[in-house]
Amino acid sequence: MTLPSTTCRIAACATACLLLAGGGRHAFCQAAASTASPSRQIRYAGPIIDVHLHTDPPASAIGAPNPVAGAPPASSAAELLRAALQECEKYNIVRAEVNGWPGTLELWVRADSARFIPAPMILRDSPSPALEVRALRRQLLRGEAGAVGEILGQYVGLKPDDPALEPYWRLAEELDVPVMIHLGTSFPATAHSGYPAFRLSLGNPLLLEEALVRHPRLRVWVAHGGLPWSNEIFALMQQYPQLYIDIATINWMGGPAGRAAFHSFLQQAMNRGLGKRIMFGSDQMAWPDAIDLAIEGVDSADFLTPEQKRDIFYANAVRFLRLREELGQP
Ligand SMILES: [Zn+2]
Repeated sequence: MTLPSTTCRIAACATACLLLAGGGRHAFCQAAASTASPSRQIRYAGPIIDVHLHTDPPASAIGAPNPVAGAPPASSAAELLRAALQECEKYNIVRAEVNGWPGTLELWVRADSARFIPAPMILRDSPSPALEVRALRRQLLRGEAGAVGEILGQYVGLKPDDPALEPYWRLAEELDVPVMIHLGTSFPATAHSGYPAFRLSLGNPLLLEEALVRHPRLRVWVAHGGLPWSNEIFALMQQYPQLYIDIATINWMGGPAGRAAFHSFLQQAMNRGLGKRIMFGSDQMAWPDAIDLAIEGVDSADFLTPEQKRDIFYANAVRFLRLREELGQP
């Protein structure tokens, strides 16, 4: 996530900023400008699964244009949902893991229960979980949730193996439910910008190792490829075959200038034989057109074969999330 310094404060952190969103029931901005995305030349025509789609826009994105494309943010929670659905139709996004809190999460799932898989967030702005493990268990058992995440422990000062998170890892392993955790970096000066407990050092993917050892059957994926710790995430994936990553945010936030770095990361992952454990995600925050940008970021990776693209956009998520989807040929 290499971000232009002038834009990062308003945009960079899909995940961190969500802590300030307050449930997403507020108007994001008064502007009525269209969030419609421009037409892009996307060659990939197969199905897509977005494993990182937040329902609660970050407060820091309120009223701010997309830092890469300049498009205005959604003007309300309803507008964000409507525009995201439009993007799903446009690009054949057949399923999406939606990450949110009570209220907006249900709203999205009610709007399209065949497409959206609810994944509750468990932390807000404190190391004390906002969603108790007992309540989460109930939701998972009733089918009201199909995954968990994004876990934002890094923003509230928690290591992945902190005792506060242990009951959630245990529950996810016991119920065989996939979990997403944010690891890596965020926008510059995060600790001085509303997240005093944030520490970059807590984002090192190697800190996930203890949880992986304690829970060998845990289906966990690291958001944002754990960047900038590429060597660490590759080593961790090679050591722990159950570990997947998504490439949300890193596939679009750098803009055209950052694409070479993203492609280099992707190419290194492919060279290490990890192409079956990379999943597409957008992390569009309040900007539905970021979904276009994220798809374009992967589609433009000319070193990928059609099969490899289909793996990243779709097939890897079908396998990891154990979805009932047709897997046919690319
Ligand atoms: Zn994140």
